[in-house]
Amino acid sequence: MLADSRGEVQRGLEVAEFACGVPQLVKGEFSAQVSAGVDAFSFREPLGVVAGITPFNFPAMVPLWMHPIAIATGNTLVLRPSERDPSASLILAELWQRAGLPGGVFNVVQGDKAAVDAILGHPEIAAVSFVGSTPVARYVHEHATRSGQRVQALGGAKNHAVVLPDADLDYSADHLVAAAYGSAGERCMAVSVAVAVGPVADPLVDALARKAKAVRVGPGRDPEAEMGPLVTEAARARVARFIGGAQQSGATVAVDGRGITVPGCEQGFFLGPTLIDHVGTDADVYTQELFGPVLVVVRVDSLDEAIAVINANPYGNGTAIFTESGDAARKFQRGVHVGMIGVNVPIPTPMAYYYSFGGWNDSLFGDHHVHGQEGVRFYTRAKAVTQRWHGGAQQAASYNFPTAN
Ligand code: NAD
Repeated sequence: MLADSRGEVQRGLEVAEFACGVPQLVKGEFSAQVSAGVDAFSFREPLGVVAGITPFNFPAMVPLWMHPIAIATGNTLVLRPSERDPSASLILAELWQRAGLPGGVFNVVQGDKAAVDAILGHPEIAAVSFVGSTPVARYVHEHATRSGQRVQALGGAKNHAVVLPDADLDYSADHLVAAAYGSAGERCMAVSVAVAVGPVADPLVDALARKAKAVRVGPGRDPEAEMGPLVTEAARARVARFIGGAQQSGATVAVDGRGITVPGCEQGFFLGPTLIDHVGTDADVYTQELFGPVLVVVRVDSLDEAIAVINANPYGNGTAIFTESGDAARKFQRGVHVGMIGVNVPIPTPMAYYYSFGGWNDSLFGDHHVHGQEGVRFYTRAKAVTQRWHGGAQQAASYNFPTAN
């Protein structure tokens, strides 16, 4: 959707604004007189050439998570965007050029897997930032680290939103529907599992079904449309197969998006909002990342059980809780093994002006989250200098390990 894309660009620009403050971010520390006439200080330096490999779903924002900070900290960057929507990267390159960036600092390489493989292990590329699905993130992490490259590889997700019985039902259902079906579910922070606790389940499913049926599906340029098509026919067919599988295994397809037709766009890759109730945690529709407009409902008896479900899931990107209880929210945020947590906020994407973005477990391989302070650390390394100038107190050389230089 056009409005969705504008939001994407805005969230990317936040990173560029953050990077404008880079002198403050790379400044080091200074300790005077650590010994007689000796000062010690540290500062951070760029790595050299770094690379970014990005997914199709945010062709402007995800590269913007990387290149403003990489370049502001003094590196040059090679961007290898998704082959499915490569043109946004060229617009970014043109903007850099118009802003006066010297040639060779921001570089775009188009291509398929061969272009990715040429980056991994390349002796002149010091670090790789990757964002995409978990199997490819794991592959990138393994291959790049094997040759000594620094890597942050962000993977896929299965984001749970827990609804407690004390939650505002209408508010929760509104936000769950928007978070599940916005961008047709093709967001790594999309909510794909609603965990209904105790007696809230039946009224929640009723509200979700009513609201899911009311979502306006249409082409991206239609200002009235709230949800567009999937990226390819293969993606649409894959998600539809999971819905069929869930139905066959006994789950309740409360709202079925298959078979939707959008007038004027009969050849489009549309799949309507789909809601599946009574889903077990062993079902394929639960264990797999679908990356489509499907919300599954898992019913549990308590908050403890909800937290256990989330922690047993291999992903750990984002999660949310809907409640009026501060005590429950605090227990939740301390208890889940997930990188980004929302309290009555369904998509808790951190604001880039300071906080970094990243999940846990199979949602991120490597030590650093992207952008923010962690981005600065990822694209730089520290030097510590210990310095004495003659004219200060002289000290005799010693054969012992220096304790006071
Ligand atoms: P993808 O993993 O298919 O592709 C990501 C990148 O890897 C693309 O540039 C692609 O060309 C390349 N690639 C694909 N297969 C490869 C292979 N075998 N060898 C080498 N390179 C390969 O992901 P996608 O379909 O473009 O994007 C959707 C996925 O990205 C979802 O899983 C979503 O959750 C994830 N994602 C994660 C985040 C996050 O921050 N964690 C953000 C956005 C998207």
